[in-house]
Amino acid sequence: MTDPSPPTPDSRPPEPALTPPPAQLDTSFARKPRVAANKSRRRDIPQGLWTKCPECGEMVFDKELEEQLKTCPHCQFHFPLCARKRIESLAKPGSFEEIDAHMTSVDTLEFTGTDSYAAKLEKHKSRTGLCDAVITGFCRMGAHRVALGVMDFNFLGGSMGSVVGEKITRLIEAATLQRIPLIIISSSGGARMYEGMFSLMQLAKTSAAIAYHGRSKSPYISVLTHPTTAGVMASYASLGDLIISEPKAMIGFAGPRVIKDTTQAELPKGFQTAEFLADRGLIDAIVPRRQMRERLTEYLDYLCAAPAAKKTA
Ligand SMILES: [Zn+2]
Repeated sequence: MTDPSPPTPDSRPPEPALTPPPAQLDTSFARKPRVAANKSRRRDIPQGLWTKCPECGEMVFDKELEEQLKTCPHCQFHFPLCARKRIESLAKPGSFEEIDAHMTSVDTLEFTGTDSYAAKLEKHKSRTGLCDAVITGFCRMGAHRVALGVMDFNFLGGSMGSVVGEKITRLIEAATLQRIPLIIISSSGGARMYEGMFSLMQLAKTSAAIAYHGRSKSPYISVLTHPTTAGVMASYASLGDLIISEPKAMIGFAGPRVIKDTTQAELPKGFQTAEFLADRGLIDAIVPRRQMRERLTEYLDYLCAAPAAKKTA
């Protein structure tokens, strides 16, 4: 310990200012944080009223978002849409008849990870109000009676277990039997690994049913939405007579990182997007969600040789 050295001329406190400071201090600098606080308050709008678009950053009024079928009015970004809302947007009002509504998965393998499969199923059932990741049934679209299956990504990532596979297969078989067109709207992360090989078997089962449906000469339109990947893309989603997709949807089998690591090759720009695959012929058309009902009806008219045209002929 040393005594503090005596103050040198340089370290002495400055002389008092000759002119006294103004009576009214300029406090404009102090207002700045308040402006920022206001801004952040504007950003912290109560949840459930506004949604920020991840593509363009604009705040969109939720009511407007619902009216636009969950597409951004500024940049047309497509937000996820739940299965019930999608059916509502496509089927003639009041025409949808659901089938196999209460079919539910069984935890055959007694799978446990961080959580048991049974617990996960219960959680997703209560959160989504669904029994599994697909809703199937019949509805009217334009002049056509259609077998319609719609997947919901909110239920365990739209994964295909034995219930999804069975419901899809029953829907396809019913369409084949009734000789009516089939439309399946996919949104899935792939096969449901909690069901092990039982989920993988659904790839073969659904694909075989599609092959039989093809023989009945009734069309099958596969609609891909963001994201459609892995086991679902490797089976019925890629087997449509017509394969259409929503804009900018991610479509593929394995993820880009896995492919890059396996092939040790640089992946091209836009790899695994709907636009990339449309350029290369895997996807026949990219259809914005708000035009989907109209365009599907047009395709059905064409593929089913339009009953209206037949009458006039
Ligand atoms: Zn936007």
